[in-house]
Amino acid sequence: MTDPDPSSIEAAKARYAAERAKRLRDEGLAQYETLSEHDLDRDPWADPGFTRPAIIEDTDVVILGGGFAGMLTAVNLQRQGIDDFRIIDKAADFGGTWYWNRYPGCMCDVDATIYLPLLEETGYMPTEKYASAPEIFGYCQLLGRHFGLYDHALFQTEVESLTWDDDAHRWELVSTRGDRLRTRFFVSAGGLMHKAKLPGIEGIDRFAGTAFHTTRWDYEYTGGSPTEPMDRLSDKVVGIIGTGATSVQVVPQLARTAKEVYVFQRTPSAVGVRNQQPIDEEWFRSLPPGWQAERTRNFTEVVTGGKPDRDLVADSWGQALREDTQREPASEEEKAELEAIDFEVMEGFRRRVDEIVEEPATAEKLKPWYGKHCKRLCFHDEYLQAFNLPNVHLVDTDGQGVREMSSEGPVVDGVTYPLDLLVFASGFEITTSLVSRLGFDPVGRGGVRLSERWHDGTHSLHGILTADFPNFFVVSFIQAGFGLNFVHFLSESTAHIAWLIGHCRSEGIASIEATPEAEDEWLQILWKASGPLARYNTSCTPSYGNSEGARTMLAARSAVFPGSLMDYAEHLECWRADGSLEGTRVVREA
Ligand code: NDP
Repeated sequence: MTDPDPSSIEAAKARYAAERAKRLRDEGLAQYETLSEHDLDRDPWADPGFTRPAIIEDTDVVILGGGFAGMLTAVNLQRQGIDDFRIIDKAADFGGTWYWNRYPGCMCDVDATIYLPLLEETGYMPTEKYASAPEIFGYCQLLGRHFGLYDHALFQTEVESLTWDDDAHRWELVSTRGDRLRTRFFVSAGGLMHKAKLPGIEGIDRFAGTAFHTTRWDYEYTGGSPTEPMDRLSDKVVGIIGTGATSVQVVPQLARTAKEVYVFQRTPSAVGVRNQQPIDEEWFRSLPPGWQAERTRNFTEVVTGGKPDRDLVADSWGQALREDTQREPASEEEKAELEAIDFEVMEGFRRRVDEIVEEPATAEKLKPWYGKHCKRLCFHDEYLQAFNLPNVHLVDTDGQGVREMSSEGPVVDGVTYPLDLLVFASGFEITTSLVSRLGFDPVGRGGVRLSERWHDGTHSLHGILTADFPNFFVVSFIQAGFGLNFVHFLSESTAHIAWLIGHCRSEGIASIEATPEAEDEWLQILWKASGPLARYNTSCTPSYGNSEGARTMLAARSAVFPGSLMDYAEHLECWRADGSLEGTRVVREA
């Protein structure tokens, strides 16, 4: 690589700032709307007529969420010898994200051998390096069978209320199916991306055609299935709003069969090489015991700048992220070096657009102008190529987004785009309040509501425990570690939660919660260490990663443990090993 010209870097930085300024909206997170407000929240995969008798019982643990977070919590509880638990999910099966997301082309862009958890325990071999959504959903069902989790599941069930009884040291849970569960421990594993959002478009309901969010794909309308082409679109004009990781996977599939496809873009994704390939069975079967944990750790080290000797997964993520350009530079020279590396990686994405997209004006609009850590990178070998097809049209909104809707379709720059079908690939609530995402407001000690206690954002120890909410555990990357491979994070945090529950039981602890002082200290640790990250973020285009650029306390409290997920995991490990349960308030059993 030749060193980039410093003036090109300065020009790019100016362009990043200008593009960011175009996109900032005063409403921040409030610009989005919910599916239920627009009657788009129907579950296409469940039997709407499903009924079952209400359950009244005492249990040790209630886990909210049957995705990987909930399933891994359950498996880790089993490892602690705890088998008296319930898993509640509004979906009709396990899978979480992979239950809801059945849109065409859906797959996981993290290597399947480290994304699918517990492969050594189940003996399952993924078919391809990047597993398709149907394969992952099938694997979730396999996990459910393998670990006997179906016996614990209450599907198509939502929590209506959750109230702490301080005398009995129990949570009282009432569900939408009339269940009344008394439980010692409650784990919110309700998913990070389970609450889909709609773009904030004035008069969005005016649209008279068919519309749905990507998590509620209507194959009745489009024809086909997650594995078959959509055969009812050949006479349909389809629009898709959003150009994030989901849209990058959907657009090539729509392009294949729809008469016309209009892609409404606010911010282009950076789209690199995917390089899908089958898994070599001989290689897979030759891996030594312990391989998955090693490979998982190695990937996280590679993509968080740890620079291990070997890159076991060796894919485009590692190439783009091996240098952590968000870190605090030790000198002016290092600062310049990091800027040059970041610039060159993004130039690579921009060059790829030029190499693939034939029409220069379209290519120009598809180029990402922001730093490499600002938005989730995408990797796909058909997305950019789709814009060369005569039936695919990019409608670039110059950072403004679609803001107006008519009965015929979106209106951009005074031009109406008449559509038969409008797909919302507009993402999920991620850094809104936990209560908004849970859909109920837990009542802790003394009748305090979580919405009151967390009125200005998250208060937690390690992102997991919170004061006044005893035996209440949250699985979320907010105030916790993240790591690109989300399942790696889940494995670490759910093991910690299961350990805490097991420890309480074995040590005669009736309840555990964070102290407010420890919550404040934890936040200070996060803020202190996240200075460089916060500085990097100020130049980033708005996204869910920076709470849409909002400068509110809610956004500031949505900090993530900076640096590698390995550091967060090590922090938890040391905390457990210390044995004093530092920063918690415990009540011993009488
Ligand atoms: P995103 O939040 O990433 O994308 C939403 C898109 O909608 C953005 O392009 C956004 O633009 C756009 N948008 C919002 N409002 C408007 C508007 N008014 N007009 C036009 N466009 C608008 O959601 P995704 O579902 O794509 O992805 C969410 C996350 O899910 C990913 O980041 C990833 O973590 C995960 N995912 C993972 C996959 C995997 O392979 N592992 C695959 C798919 C998703 P803007 O960028 O300007 O905000």
